Amino acid sequence: MIDVQYERGVYLPSLDLWLDPWDERTTAFISHAHGDHIGNHREVILTEITAQLMELRLPGDRIEHRLSFQVPFPFRGAELTLLPAGHIYGSAQLFAQSDAGSFLYTGDFKLRPGRAAEPIAWRPAETLVMETTFGLPRFVFPPTEQVIAELIKFCRETIEEGATPILFGYSLGKAQEILAALHGTDLPVRLHSSVYQMTKVYNDKFHHLPPFSLYRGDDLAGSVLLCPPYVNGTRLVQSIKPRRTAMLTGWALNPGAVHRYQCDAAFPLSDHADYPDLLRYV
Ligand SMILES: [Zn+2]
Repeated sequence: MIDVQYERGVYLPSLDLWLDPWDERTTAFISHAHGDHIGNHREVILTEITAQLMELRLPGDRIEHRLSFQVPFPFRGAELTLLPAGHIYGSAQLFAQSDAGSFLYTGDFKLRPGRAAEPIAWRPAETLVMETTFGLPRFVFPPTEQVIAELIKFCRETIEEGATPILFGYSLGKAQEILAALHGTDLPVRLHSSVYQMTKVYNDKFHHLPPFSLYRGDDLAGSVLLCPPYVNGTRLVQSIKPRRTAMLTGWALNPGAVHRYQCDAAFPLSDHADYPDLLRYV
């Protein structure tokens, strides 16, 4: 069995390899480009897309092994294979095979097909280390189609009332899922600058994204505005009147989510697996 340790990150001592470590390390696998997974490590193993997204968020010099999905990479006496994780564009799981055994690390993942992420793939392993963000039985997400239908209804009703719908989702991954969900609705979509920057990387591959444009503080009449959550409560949002706001997060299942996020609505659209999918994965 491949030995596994944990110290602010998963560590495989036989390969001297860290997986999504919190601290700067010599060699690390970076599963995806979310802020809590990237770092200034000397040598990194990651997908091409994660490398491109990471360059935007954390420029710097490092040795990069940009791997394709499903192509084995010989590494320190073992063989590493990256598998799509279905979490965000470019997100990967790490499968390691050596004389000691097989090992699978999920990183953040989801089983439900995303509109802006590669479909997940997996293979059996002796040892499984997995992300369990929604690891309580009460976290069961409604069908994605139902959530999206409610979200579109919220946007249309808000516009009919003469207000601007403002949707909050993380600038990388969630925002593009929301954007893709609005495809075919004819709703003009305006993007906050941080969302816009990330979406440009997606646009090369995900051609089913609806037309979008950068929001420059101009007239929003009849449009949907897509922003990262941190701008809620800032002048940028408060200056838009009248408005109705909605947060898109798996945590919308928690009672009081609307109050907690200081929004008019909250929709459980997540880029993580829910509890039944965690069990299914195991
Ligand atoms: Zn993530």
